Amino acid sequence: MCAQSLKMNAEFGIDELPILAKSDVVVIGAGPAGSSAAVAAAAGGVTVLMLDKKEQIGLPVQCAEYVPLSLAAEVPVPAECIAQRVEGFITYIHREQVAQTRAPGYILNRDVFDLYLAERAVRAGVKLFTKAKAVAVTDQGVLINQQGKLSMVKAGVVIGSEGPKSVVAQAIHCPPQVLAYAKQITVKLRKKSQWAQIYFSPSIPGGYAWLFPKNDLANVGVSIDLSLGGKVATALAEFQQYLIKEGVISEEVIRTTGGAIPIGGPRMMQQKNLMLVGDAAGHTHAISGEGIFPAIVAGKIAGSLAVDSIRTGDVNVLKQYPLQCFTRFGEFVKRGFERKVEYNSNWGKMEFSVLVRKTWFAFPEYFES
Ligand SMILES: Cc1cc2nc3c(=O)[nH]c(=O)nc-3n(C[C@H](O)[C@H](O)[C@H](O)COP(=O)(O)OP(=O)(O)OC[C@H]3O[C@@H](n4cnc5c(N)ncnc54)[C@H](O)[C@@H]3O)c2cc1C
Repeated sequence: MCAQSLKMNAEFGIDELPILAKSDVVVIGAGPAGSSAAVAAAAGGVTVLMLDKKEQIGLPVQCAEYVPLSLAAEVPVPAECIAQRVEGFITYIHREQVAQTRAPGYILNRDVFDLYLAERAVRAGVKLFTKAKAVAVTDQGVLINQQGKLSMVKAGVVIGSEGPKSVVAQAIHCPPQVLAYAKQITVKLRKKSQWAQIYFSPSIPGGYAWLFPKNDLANVGVSIDLSLGGKVATALAEFQQYLIKEGVISEEVIRTTGGAIPIGGPRMMQQKNLMLVGDAAGHTHAISGEGIFPAIVAGKIAGSLAVDSIRTGDVNVLKQYPLQCFTRFGEFVKRGFERKVEYNSNWGKMEFSVLVRKTWFAFPEYFES
């Protein structure tokens, strides 16, 4: 037993805790990454338990809700999960339109989508515990807290898909993730649109403002890399006022949300019988913040490798996980991270529009090596 496990035993009295369940695979977090991993594992015939701290899967929505059309090749995207189709992105620098990029996609009803994915996992045989927060992962299994009651869940393989504050990542001794912070409001859109809008401005350091149309509504948000300065709430208020003045949106705010976006690139993704998936693994594009697609692809890979590991009794099978992820979406995440490093090291030194052109996918400079 490692020193950390001994410390945890002393803190929690783990040996005396009830064993709530035993499962071949335990998936922590029922977001897109976790539900995809759970389905893939259950399809291989092993027992799968998925835990989520939320009472209602999918809520609150903390997302601008764009996914590329190609997601439908990875996972079913039923009609009720889709709010509308968009044709791509219009990019603005200093509020001047500078590019229009075709990138067809859907604006999801993310709450409906996440619930659909979790229910699909349950239909595949996955046992789902809601209001079950994983608080630590030890050699004994996963320690969970269900409304103040601590218990243990025993697992052959543990998949950490619980977002940036991952307890599996702590067990692997990953350093804390580098995060950007976002705030978003949902407002009424005065004129429907088929194009998402992205606004770069020096007052939004290391991030951007967005308007993603959702039928008569729009998700309007801002994300900022706070290590470069700026204030998310101030930048969002300014952007909102600008859009109201331009007659694009109404004043009424229907919903407010926000959240953290991993921008530090992929972390160590696997150790012993533990794997990290999705945001927990840093599987996000460090400039755009796009993370749903890689989360789902990585979940599928992690789930099926977990099956191989359980069937063969060999955790070394899981060592294939990072490479298999890299093969599927590594270039996307790697280039995003490289451009983010370039952005930060040139912040304040390079003319702003030149910097954006080098680091945003709407421009050929982004794809130059
Ligand atoms: C404001 C904002 C806008 C975004 N817009 C987009 C976008 O338009 N397109 C896009 O592709 N990406 C977007 N993203 C990123 C995207 O939302 C994430 O990359 C995606 O949700 C990752 O999926 P996941 O399953 O890894 O994590 P999550 O969706 O975060 O799911 C993690 C789950 O784990 C649960 N959990 C957390 N801790 C525990 C615990 N200790 N025990 C049990 N359960 C736990 C949570 O309740 C949650 O259900 C956005 C992010 C933000 C913050």
